[in-house]
Amino acid sequence: MKPTALVAGNWKMNGLASSQAELEALGNYLSDGSAADCDVLICPPFTLIAAFASNAPTGVAIGAQDCHTNKSGAHTGDISAEMLSDAGASYVIVGHSERRADHGESSALVRDKANAVLAEGLKAIVCVGETEAERDAGKTLDVVLGQVAQSVPAGSIPENTVVAYEPVWAIGTGRTPTVADVAEVHTAIRGALVERFGDAGNGFRILYGGSVKPSNAAELMAADNVNGALVGGASLKASDFNGIIDAYR
Ligand code: PEP
Repeated sequence: MKPTALVAGNWKMNGLASSQAELEALGNYLSDGSAADCDVLICPPFTLIAAFASNAPTGVAIGAQDCHTNKSGAHTGDISAEMLSDAGASYVIVGHSERRADHGESSALVRDKANAVLAEGLKAIVCVGETEAERDAGKTLDVVLGQVAQSVPAGSIPENTVVAYEPVWAIGTGRTPTVADVAEVHTAIRGALVERFGDAGNGFRILYGGSVKPSNAAELMAADNVNGALVGGASLKASDFNGIIDAYR
């Protein structure tokens, strides 16, 4: 059975208390009668999680963009999955390419973070994706499937883990792979999940991320084995994000 799609917004380091208005606007779009056949998630910066979670419109889950591997302790500036759960988050993004690049996060560390997320009963969104140099060298599937193998925990099941394929060169650039290229990578990820988890592998959601916007969402979301989107820039404005959710109306 096809998994329920997920359209997730990653606000990155954007958003102040006043951004609550965008969350409310999103709620208005979602409650205007044109129900979407997908789950909807917003991952604001840590500072907004508790406020957003306590005022989340019906049908909008709130998540975080990273966490530490430990529950608590001497880790200045870090935040644990337990704290995120306590604040009202239900999902945590791990292994975003900006974390892998800016903070030197390895796939092994990403897997440990995902394990910490699962241990709190939260859902992990595990990000994978090739750089432009890797794509040009014909290494896309090797890189992506290697990251999937090393970053997705052994204890993952469709209910607690989402995989997000985000080509690094497509993030924030306005460039996207062709629909055929997206389908090829997603189908390869699906194959790897089935090989590893058996039939359950068919139930995992595999999101596409990288310059998704209202004008390209429908064709990208229709590609084989694409079960939703992870959206950066276009998730900041409720009208744009709603235009992407339209792919599921
Ligand atoms: C992202 O960073 O997860 C992302 C997909 O960004 P954008 O949509 O802005 O390309």
